[in-house]
Amino acid sequence: MIIVMEQTADEPQVQRVIETLVGAGYDVHRSTGAAHTVLGAVGVPKTPLDPRSLELIEGVREVIKISEPYKLVGRTFKPQDTIVDIAGVKVGGPEVIVMAGPCAVESMEQLRTTAVAVQASGARILRGGAFKPRTSPYSFQGHGEEALRWMRALGDELGVAVVSEVMDVRTIEMMLKYVDCLQVGARNMQNFDLLRELGRVRKPVMLKRGLSATIEEWLLSAEYVLAGGNSQVVLCERGIRTFENATRNTLDISAIPVVKKLSHLPILVDPSHGTGRRDKVIPMARAGVAAGADGLLIEVHCDPDKAWSDGAQSLYPEQFERLMGELRVIAPVIGRSLPLPKPAAAAAR
Ligand code: PEP
Ligand code: MN
Repeated sequence: MIIVMEQTADEPQVQRVIETLVGAGYDVHRSTGAAHTVLGAVGVPKTPLDPRSLELIEGVREVIKISEPYKLVGRTFKPQDTIVDIAGVKVGGPEVIVMAGPCAVESMEQLRTTAVAVQASGARILRGGAFKPRTSPYSFQGHGEEALRWMRALGDELGVAVVSEVMDVRTIEMMLKYVDCLQVGARNMQNFDLLRELGRVRKPVMLKRGLSATIEEWLLSAEYVLAGGNSQVVLCERGIRTFENATRNTLDISAIPVVKKLSHLPILVDPSHGTGRRDKVIPMARAGVAAGADGLLIEVHCDPDKAWSDGAQSLYPEQFERLMGELRVIAPVIGRSLPLPKPAAAAAR
């Protein structure tokens, strides 16, 4: 932390700040300039000191934080990239991993048709919602455990990994029987009890960015999971709320290079929730890969016009196939690749 004193600050005021910092357990480095005295506080404090309360001390002009508030998720702690293994699919390595599937699992038939199609186009992970966080309590809330049973059966049959959203601490144990990775949705990014519990789990967690969360808040949420003992966390940028209303959310593509610099965790981009419209999903998916995302999360439905949720942002399987072909051209430009598509029949065990 750096404390810049006012030009008018006198010596007793400087001493008061130094005493406060030393009292909290910091080492203080003083630099007395012609205009301003600057104090550098380093070390780990014994008692937490709120930078805002320092700013209230007479004579203090500004307090600047220089170290991140998180540790385990930061590159300072671990400089090399983390590769998260989702049932054999490596997220964060040289391959760009695409997870796809319907927003909500509606029936075994719907899931099977969609899963076979996305796998044939190169998706390595099947993602479908069994518990849906819907804005209205009257909207379809998901088929729950039955949907997870269908997901697991198809995952085993086709040889794809399976991801689904966990909304409640009470369902974690049950879900672990079926899924290879637990998704934490945007609305639960700051459900700290849920994050703490997921720290005890030995399966990967995909943590979506909250609707109005800063990158620092998002990384602090990931820190909860790592601090609990689970280092297998994948981040997912899914758009944030801004004043712009031409799209459902504003997909923050710049978050990718920012997160890549701050953290070693892999990051995916979800252009489906990020834009809310299928005609915008394709260009933003291309942009996500070009910007260095480790993968994408794309909603695909075998019949989007009849989807029970998020139909407008769900791609038709043919669109998804075309997009994957384009991504195969884009990825090598930045030294990445996409796994080759497997014909559905050959993929089935
Ligand atoms: C979802 O992934 O289907 C979902 C509800 O996303 P988000 O939490 O990003 O809104
Ligand atoms: Mn959705």
